[in-house]
Amino acid sequence: MSDLAARLLRQQLSDLVPYESARRLGGDGEIWLNANENPYSHSYELDDSRFGRYPEFQPPELIDRYAAYAGVSNQQLLATRGADEGIELLIRTFCEPQQDKVIICPPTYGMYAISARTNLVDVVNVPLDDDYQVDVDGVLNNISANMDSVKLVFVCSPNNPTGHDMQPAKLRQLLEALKDQALVVVDEAYIEFSAQPSVLSWLSEFPNLVVLRTLSKAFALAGIRCGFTLANEAVIQQLAKVIAPYPVPEPVAQVAIQALSDDNLKAVAAEVAGLNALRAEFAATMQELTDVFPSSGNYVLFRVPNALACMKAMADAGIILRNQSKQLTLQNCIRVTIGTEQEMARTTSALQAYFKEAM
Ligand SMILES: *Cc1c(COP(=O)(O)O)cnc(C)c1O
Repeated sequence: MSDLAARLLRQQLSDLVPYESARRLGGDGEIWLNANENPYSHSYELDDSRFGRYPEFQPPELIDRYAAYAGVSNQQLLATRGADEGIELLIRTFCEPQQDKVIICPPTYGMYAISARTNLVDVVNVPLDDDYQVDVDGVLNNISANMDSVKLVFVCSPNNPTGHDMQPAKLRQLLEALKDQALVVVDEAYIEFSAQPSVLSWLSEFPNLVVLRTLSKAFALAGIRCGFTLANEAVIQQLAKVIAPYPVPEPVAQVAIQALSDDNLKAVAAEVAGLNALRAEFAATMQELTDVFPSSGNYVLFRVPNALACMKAMADAGIILRNQSKQLTLQNCIRVTIGTEQEMARTTSALQAYFKEAM
């Protein structure tokens, strides 16, 4: 009886390990700095009069506002259940199972590989170079070696979890070389925290550019699950064929529309500036103790003598961080999300105490 589900499971999924989201990993503590969430919250109002009806496929007001915010046309935008749904949708739309491949550049965000594998699409790893930049020649060589079966190249900028911006010249080189061949997906989940401009202004030049965005990070709305996939109309039209019929629930649309009001955009910009100031302060303090990765996101990655011991010491102090040791080249690296000033003060002193003990 109990083994029925295991027997029926698709064979290729038998050894799949689910994404270890910060939420699933859990932990005890009152300071949660493990999921790159924004610590501030805003108030929203809901109008329940339309909850009995199916929502619009793409709520027009939401599309108008995000398109204006991002500087694209309404036809260059698809709202999804978080950027995560955009990742999976790209794979389901463009990759033939057991035939096509995607390239990822580790160490990077874990969902690209998980979404590919659950759709029986092979993942080719082309590690970031010594400066944590995309290895353009490596990507292009792998595409030739795989005889045109690579449909998507995922690049994250700022990269999670290292924090680096990808150099625009490298992204351009990649887009140019793959113009007639593959889509280059630039994941800009953290773009609001970066001083580097978005690549969205290049859309008219590159038919193969796709950008992922989300309201989960800078907008402090991880709980509503709202993200966006941006690309030229031809790409969006293909994605729109495959996506579920009602991808944006009515309450989500209502909240997201309010989040994109002029007033809220100003509030978000002010919060981002505050978080970036805290990031600079935290990184400077940590630099006195250890190697710190430069960050353009709302998080900072650094090396510790022993990541498990550090996680334990921090948990004992009620602080939950994210151990990145399983990632390529990131053994004994821990990522701290930038929280409120109080949270950062407590985290900094707990880390200082850990280092004092460990050195
Ligand atoms: C958080 C994150 C996402 C997922 O965003 P959602 O909109 O919450 O699904 C995508 N990419 C990166 C790099 C992230 O860190």
